Amino acid sequence: MTEPIVAVVGAGPAGMRAAEVLVRAGVRPILFDEAEQPGGQIYRQPPEGAARRARQIYGFETRKAQAIHGVLREMGNNVDYRPGTLVWNVLQDRLDLLGPRGYGAQQFDGLILATGAMERILPFPGWTLPGVFTLGGAQIALKSQGVSIGRRIAFVGGGPLLPLVAHQYAKAGAEVAAVLDVTSFSAKITHLPGLLAQPATLAKGLWYAASNRARNFAGSFSVRAIRAVGRAQVEALVYEDKSAKRHRIACDAIGASFGLRSETQLADLAGCRFVFDPLERQWLPERTPEGRSSVPHVYLAGDGAGIGGADVAELQGRRAALSVLEDLGQRTNTGEARRLGHKLVKQAHFRRALENAYPFPHHLVDEIHDEEIICRCEGITAGALREASRQKEAPELNRLKALTRIGMGRCQGRVCGHAAAELLARARHADIKSVGRLRGQPPVKPIPVLGVVP
Ligand SMILES: Cc1cc2nc3c(=O)[nH]c(=O)nc-3n(C[C@H](O)[C@H](O)[C@H](O)COP(=O)(O)OP(=O)(O)OC[C@H]3O[C@@H](n4cnc5c(N)ncnc54)[C@H](O)[C@@H]3O)c2cc1C
Repeated sequence: MTEPIVAVVGAGPAGMRAAEVLVRAGVRPILFDEAEQPGGQIYRQPPEGAARRARQIYGFETRKAQAIHGVLREMGNNVDYRPGTLVWNVLQDRLDLLGPRGYGAQQFDGLILATGAMERILPFPGWTLPGVFTLGGAQIALKSQGVSIGRRIAFVGGGPLLPLVAHQYAKAGAEVAAVLDVTSFSAKITHLPGLLAQPATLAKGLWYAASNRARNFAGSFSVRAIRAVGRAQVEALVYEDKSAKRHRIACDAIGASFGLRSETQLADLAGCRFVFDPLERQWLPERTPEGRSSVPHVYLAGDGAGIGGADVAELQGRRAALSVLEDLGQRTNTGEARRLGHKLVKQAHFRRALENAYPFPHHLVDEIHDEEIICRCEGITAGALREASRQKEAPELNRLKALTRIGMGRCQGRVCGHAAAELLARARHADIKSVGRLRGQPPVKPIPVLGVVP
């Protein structure tokens, strides 16, 4: 009998733990990641020979990061690890690939998608000025290259990354000019009981906030009317506090983002059914607590099917791998499956509270001026989207795409899609759910034509 081929996409916490469980059961998975080294977003590794030590890069998460990195070493030759390989399409039971040796394809019997998340962008005046980065982009510069995005940096947005990245920058010696949260302080207090479900994680969050306060950064909650100003480059961040008082923070770089969104395109191309999550305000591939999708032999783990954080991603990766083994007819440890299920339920309470404490600030969509660029790839403005949505009868996002080209550029809507959905819903006074989502299209990321690999 031939061995079943199990492919795992993503070598972050979810994919690594999934691969580990498969290896332990005697299955040799193929593990794809477009990154050169394992770790995913949170445990991203610097290149060989980098000057910063693990403790400086990962802080409290050092041991977890080292454990995830160590999984690959422990699996040795029992995993077929393919770094630097983009999975750019799923067609039934085949993956289309672009790796170090060029284009290729891989058949599979089981597929675990552990594709993670990226940040949610909400355009604001000046967001395309040189010097404006996402919070994650700022973090990647620091984690992988040990460089700062500027000399004096203002951080703005929402989500737990905001205090964390500010803290990481300050610790690395950068000058942090301000940490400005668009969500309210009262939301955090209201959802404190739910956050107590994970006391250690809550304590870390409080510690980052306290250390930022102790460093006396300008800080505020419920900020709005954000604007990056400068001629050829960021010179200041302007905002209003909750009393509508205007402030100007001189800086030469801004880190800004508004939470995370799941990377769902491969699940879409695999034919998975999607459901709307009102809390995350996004359409997500349906997944059972055991990690099964609506498509047999396709499994989902980690942030790629709903934001859960790194600890949840590890648990989900393990659980999805057990489901693969169960469906392949292998005996699995039912006690382990039960334990993982219990832990995931406990984590779910915490995640819901965290999402409520940092709700996506959709009210800021009304502050986006008509002349503001929403799609950087195609130069499409908010005004063009609003006009098309009202004058040309676009009740749904794919119709808006056909009319305006939003989501047709290099990013395939990964950057602009959610903002466009919010704008469309607002312009039509409709519910965000009713405007739908951009359909996934291959290639999920830009690839060179004619097989010419640089
Ligand atoms: C920019 C950013 C920074 C973050 N920083 C922190 C932090 O500091 N602290 C924290 O607690 N949480 C952070 N998070 C959240 C945290 O990273 C996630 O909760 C956690 O990493 C989820 O693990 P995962 O395995 O689901 O996904 P990830 O860790 O994101 O791993 C997904 C992997 O899949 C790969 N991949 C995706 N699509 C493809 C494809 N088509 N082909 C090949 N490979 C693919 C990616 O390269 C990546 O390595 C961050 C998230 C983002 C987006």
